[in-house]
Amino acid sequence: MQAQSYTNELLAGMQRVEESWKRVRSDVEEAAIRAGRNPDDVRLMAVTKTVEPVFINHAISLGATLIGENKVQEFLAKKPSLEGAYEAHLIGHLQTNKVRQIVGQVDMIQSVDSVKLAREIGKESEKKGVVSDILLEVNIGLDPNKFGILPDALEETACEIAEISGVRVCGLMTVPPFDADLEKTRRFFSNMYRLYIDITEKKIHNIFMHVLSMGMSGDYAQAIAEGATLVRVGTAIFGSRNYR
Ligand SMILES: *Cc1c(COP(=O)(O)O)cnc(C)c1O
Repeated sequence: MQAQSYTNELLAGMQRVEESWKRVRSDVEEAAIRAGRNPDDVRLMAVTKTVEPVFINHAISLGATLIGENKVQEFLAKKPSLEGAYEAHLIGHLQTNKVRQIVGQVDMIQSVDSVKLAREIGKESEKKGVVSDILLEVNIGLDPNKFGILPDALEETACEIAEISGVRVCGLMTVPPFDADLEKTRRFFSNMYRLYIDITEKKIHNIFMHVLSMGMSGDYAQAIAEGATLVRVGTAIFGSRNYR
């Protein structure tokens, strides 16, 4: 009986993930079309922090082939259980002492917020004979509780990081302040787009801008309207998280 009810619960959970994934997938497409954009230009990332591998694998099988994890330890623990062809990005704050463990294990590190961290990633990448794709995290809301490069310092920081071998800057990412309303959040996204275009137009050597990562469960439509090329969605796909 125990095993039976567990199985039913699991199946119901997988069913919910399936429905949510399909709904968010079509929402993202509609938001792109409404914004006059090609839906293929917006990637939907399934944020899988705190989600168990069985559900992640189900999502991957449905086409959620881009996943995002916050914590190095959690991702490395789940990785051996993940199945299918997927791309994984680290989206949470990275401490320099975890760099060694994560370089070579993910396809992109989205949360690079200092020259020091970029240097560490570059050093470790060279040691492993790889080039790490990174995004520069911008603290667009000047939020004292958030990580990220301040907008005023972005260009100078980007130029410095571009000089580091072993890393390749692919774009920008941001997490706006949680307490901002949708209208304010949309303005932050619009400011991010301007920064993204400014840096792109500077054509800085070794910077290959093509990713603007912004927008989460509550605001991905606004982010897409303002030019996001990648939205990071957790709760709307997997349900609310239980933080222990
Ligand atoms: C958790 C997280 C997300 C997803 O947030 P939801 O509101 O659950 O969609 C996106 N980006 C980052 C950096 C996160 O930590």
